[in-house]
Amino acid sequence: MSQYKMWIGGKWVDADSGKTYPVYNPATELEFAQMPLGGKSDVDKAVIAARKAFPVWSKKPQAERSQIAMKIAALIRENAGEFGRIDTLDHGTPTKTAAFMAATQADRFEWAAYNGRSLMGHTIPSSPDELVYLQREPIGVIALITPWNFPLAMICHKLAAALTLGNTCVIKPPSIDSLAAIKLGELLEKLDLPVGTVNVVTGPGGTAGEALATHRGVDMVAFTGSSETGKRIMALASQTVKRLQLELGGKNIAIILDDADVDLTVGAMIGEQCFNSGQTCGAPGRFYIHEKIYDEFLEKFTVSLKKIVTGDPNDKNTDMGPLVSAEQRNKVEGYIKSGIDEGAKLVLGGKRPRASPMNKGYYVVPTIITNITQTMKIAREEIFGPVVCIMEKFNSDEKVIGMANDNVYGLNSWVWTRDIARGMRFANEIQAGTVQIGKIHGGGPELPWGGYKESGVGKEGSLYGLYEYTNLKRIQVDLTRH
Ligand code: NDP
Repeated sequence: MSQYKMWIGGKWVDADSGKTYPVYNPATELEFAQMPLGGKSDVDKAVIAARKAFPVWSKKPQAERSQIAMKIAALIRENAGEFGRIDTLDHGTPTKTAAFMAATQADRFEWAAYNGRSLMGHTIPSSPDELVYLQREPIGVIALITPWNFPLAMICHKLAAALTLGNTCVIKPPSIDSLAAIKLGELLEKLDLPVGTVNVVTGPGGTAGEALATHRGVDMVAFTGSSETGKRIMALASQTVKRLQLELGGKNIAIILDDADVDLTVGAMIGEQCFNSGQTCGAPGRFYIHEKIYDEFLEKFTVSLKKIVTGDPNDKNTDMGPLVSAEQRNKVEGYIKSGIDEGAKLVLGGKRPRASPMNKGYYVVPTIITNITQTMKIAREEIFGPVVCIMEKFNSDEKVIGMANDNVYGLNSWVWTRDIARGMRFANEIQAGTVQIGKIHGGGPELPWGGYKESGVGKEGSLYGLYEYTNLKRIQVDLTRH
């Protein structure tokens, strides 16, 4: 049984309390490690270390920080196999995608390294008698509080920008999947970072996370997770008016119009739905299908979904592994039951698998539910599992836009049509941070990501995402008196 430590102030330490908590393999339900149960005093030490490192790290030339970011990228690529192995063990990610997913995180650091070097300020021609210029500066100590759904990626999306631009960081990874953060700490330790520039504190959100969100020494909280927790963090952080960047939940919109290429759409949306066993913030949450193609779409979608291989994530043929925890499986099963209880129709899946190897592990097989109406719970709330929610069929563009926007979330969306102008009219009306017209979701660090409404505040990726981790200062110089 492995016993892990946290990384605080450049040292690998136990929690002050001496307590630990167990880590389980979601495919076998077996405990394989113990993690330190960090709390308030551990957070305090990490914040003090990060505060101490800030003047040193933030004053380094951008070129030097960018070179370190490039080294981090190289280390992630070299260790992608190991990160993949950890992800399969800790999270249940199929080996088919685990190492590749890890390797792509290197791009985040490279992109931040290049673009950090060209983040220019501006001058404002307000008067010939003065020079007004704007400069971007690092913010200070940033708490990175991240979810379990992509344990490494969710850290890297924030850390690459925050660190490269001169901030110091305390990472609070998810309790369930903390191993990737520990491994990342081991790699960062090899670099020439000032002591305390990055710290990793493991422990529960309710204690370690809240200690960060309320700490006077933390200048910004960069959070990815549920909207419920995001709201709690906003409330806590408001006491010291911290900067916030929040990537929250979604109930994403997939609109399939009557002129869509059905085969293309089915192929694309199966992948979107099943990736990471549906535990993806950007996964489709509501399918709106035009009545003219509804039957054809549903039939082809069902046939294709049956071909998804669910099972042992270590098997190279597996497309979809288990869900991350018993709690998450119970939550997803609860949503399936609620849909049926409210009058929706179960078309595929919905039952817990009993045959080996899925008689152990937190598996939910691909499930389709149809005849869902706008007011049902499964139409309104994020499920975060491989459950396809097919809404009642529609026949009017105007009405479907109204229904699509009738939700508190606004993260991701798709419009499937051969008529690009029609698709663009939808794009103008849909209330979501991302709209894909006839295209699967995806893209690199140059693209912004972030939600409307209760799906979040701010952006990750792109120059907008880099700006989130800087303060903008206005400097005015009188040119007349010297
Ligand atoms: P949670 O909100 O439960 O947890 C996220 C992180 O917050 C964890 O580290 C958690 O710690 C911590 N936390 C929990 N409670 C508090 C608190 N009171 N104060 C401070 N920190 C706290 O989310 P999940 O981990 O369940 O992740 C799934 C959610 O993340 C989904 O809603 C999904 O949509 C969203 N998400 C959004 C993305 C986006 O880009 N918009 C991307 C990926 C996921 P602990 O683990 O100890 O509970």
